[in-house]
Amino acid sequence: MSEERKVPSYTDLQQWDHQFLWHPFTQMQQWTAENPVIIARGEGNELIDVNGRRYLDGVSSLWCNVHGHNRAELNHAVESQLGAIAHSTLLGLTHAPAVELAKRLVDVTPLGLSRVFYSDSGATSVEVAIRMALQFWQLTGQPQKTKLASLAEGYHGDTLGAVSVGYSEQFHRFYKAVLPDTVRLTPPHIWRWRDWLSETEALDRAVDDARRLLSEQGNQLAALVVEPVMQGAVGMWSQPSGYLRALRELTTKHEVLLVCDEVATGFGRTGTMFASEQEKVSPDLMCLAKGLTGGYLPLAATLTTERVYSAFLGLPTEGKTFYYGHTYTGNPVGCAVALASLDLFDTERVIEGLAEKIQRLTDQLDNHMKCLRHVADIRQRGLMVGIELARDPGTRAAYAPDEGIGARVTVAARTHNVIVRPLGDVIVLMPPLSIRLNEIDSLVSAVSQAIVSVTET
Ligand SMILES: *Cc1c(COP(=O)(O)O)cnc(C)c1O
Repeated sequence: MSEERKVPSYTDLQQWDHQFLWHPFTQMQQWTAENPVIIARGEGNELIDVNGRRYLDGVSSLWCNVHGHNRAELNHAVESQLGAIAHSTLLGLTHAPAVELAKRLVDVTPLGLSRVFYSDSGATSVEVAIRMALQFWQLTGQPQKTKLASLAEGYHGDTLGAVSVGYSEQFHRFYKAVLPDTVRLTPPHIWRWRDWLSETEALDRAVDDARRLLSEQGNQLAALVVEPVMQGAVGMWSQPSGYLRALRELTTKHEVLLVCDEVATGFGRTGTMFASEQEKVSPDLMCLAKGLTGGYLPLAATLTTERVYSAFLGLPTEGKTFYYGHTYTGNPVGCAVALASLDLFDTERVIEGLAEKIQRLTDQLDNHMKCLRHVADIRQRGLMVGIELARDPGTRAAYAPDEGIGARVTVAARTHNVIVRPLGDVIVLMPPLSIRLNEIDSLVSAVSQAIVSVTET
């Protein structure tokens, strides 16, 4: 038996973090100049740091937590699966949690999606969708369909395949040279914001743009990849209702596969189990990750139709096989906790309970946020919110990037015991679906005080 390890102090952890770690999406020079919040535990909708201080988890631990932290039901699912086996492969073997979860996912997702392919993260679920789409057309006699289309400023994850459909100049310019050329549709938000259009006018322009690009280039397009209803990572760009529906009609007309990346919007986030439901859309491929395991473990799934799936069938020697996979694809512990999360959706009637929470959030934003001098726009879809700050909301003049306004607001929010994370000068609110009404009030109150303290003093 090894001796029990000594519990490191805050100072030890800070020093070692600064000495040994490289954090994601983080300027390390700035990071190592500051004192980190070191999380020790989670309880319900709160994060607790090593000094015992409690914070409301205002962004669901990067958009993935669903039912709160340290849920007995989810812990139990992990523990009992560990008692059976932690990992076994889906290459050449199968296991009950992967099989049962596939069946459940087909049940809960939009009609027509009937096959589940597992991977490990949102980025890989998109990679799978892209690769399936490209291969599908090669196998079905349209070999000229080799290009991909996506929405300008979409985000689909950080591997190169995912980046090729989700390009952002700030994040990805160093890799531009190796990325394939992708067709970019202008989403309604860009028209609305840049040209001061109403939602209806912006929708019309965006649909016209999509119609033109798809009729010109549809013949070469394998797939259109979109974040439905709300484009998240770019800064919460909401889409007027009718947009996704129009994209579905155009992609069907021009024989382009529609990929809905529901990595962020899936599992109740926008008020329905999946955002596509709000537009009565069944995509040809759907990507799931973040909330799939309730925010417990990395697991992802790409769902597709029988039409796509059956194109890959044939003798091994015909070379139609989908040669794709990862070592931990369909990990049993991840699948077990995903099943337990879906059980909680049923037993706690999570979706039915959302309307009241969403309305409370809307009311709180209307009453305490809209009136602030530097709040230029509030975009909400369910429990997914972007609050856009501007130096002058009247002219939509932005703050200078070096002012770091968004980042300063999130630091200020911590003094009010709330953890949030900005996207530039857009403050994101994305609490777990389990958030209580009084916690919604505290969240909005803390963040509005933080915005006032940074922008009005
Ligand atoms: C977060 C996100 C991804 C990437 O998921 P990872 O698990 O971080 O790879 C992909 N698409 C959307 C819409 C996302 O919000």
